[in-house]
Amino acid sequence: MDIKVSEKIPKDAYWFLFHNDELLVKEGEGNTTIPLTCDIKLLVSQPADVQSIGIFHEHECFIATISNDNLLSGFSFKKVRPLYGYLEDKYFWVACRAFHIINWMKTSKFCGCCGSSMTILSHEIAMKCSNCGHLVYPRISPAIIVAVIKENQILLARSKRFPPNRYSVIAGFVEPGETVEECVKRELREEVGIEVEQINYFGSQPWSFPDSLMIAFTAKALTHEITIDNNEIVAADWFTPHNLPDLPDKPSIGRQLIDWFTEKYKHTSIT
Ligand SMILES: [Zn+2]
Repeated sequence: MDIKVSEKIPKDAYWFLFHNDELLVKEGEGNTTIPLTCDIKLLVSQPADVQSIGIFHEHECFIATISNDNLLSGFSFKKVRPLYGYLEDKYFWVACRAFHIINWMKTSKFCGCCGSSMTILSHEIAMKCSNCGHLVYPRISPAIIVAVIKENQILLARSKRFPPNRYSVIAGFVEPGETVEECVKRELREEVGIEVEQINYFGSQPWSFPDSLMIAFTAKALTHEITIDNNEIVAADWFTPHNLPDLPDKPSIGRQLIDWFTEKYKHTSIT
């Protein structure tokens, strides 16, 4: 995503308008799209807390809140995450950025130092305390996610938060003072009792639900016996490409890791 922050306000801007946690989209002729300025002018309610979040494909993008009163036909509010596959990919990821920033603004109205009200800055995405000058930027929480491989098998685990029979790769938040590699080792040790080596970077993905940056790795299992923690993880096992359980949806990077494993090992024999 190539977004450049600008103070210029063009007329053909995209508007990411939220009511609670839902995004206003325009639906018609089998398409789901982000409203433009000309669409916004048709709305009865007017946007509040308007903020530019940059320029995308030569269109300025604004976020704002709006009431859900008297919506015109063709407009509706939708949760952002399920819009994947409905919105064009490139707009989906801008919608994620919009969702991340609007939630951060909502939860950063008051200064953490003195309790005074915060003001959004115009030249960068940051908020400043009107009293003591304390500056805050959108919170981004780094988390690791790792595909552990043993011969032609992948380690998948069930979180207690998952739907029935859903498994995925192990993930967890990076702690203060920790490298991402140390985090990979700690999460695997804590949650499934597995030691690993050859930790290799796979890719990263912003995950704005609410504010994560997922940093993905592959790793080779040094130990094979699984001991689940029974706290976060309620089941875990080794799976071949031929006996995979229910998996997380695209476009999560967890699913990309599992798809990478399946492609790499699909021609190996079943063990
Ligand atoms: Zn303050």
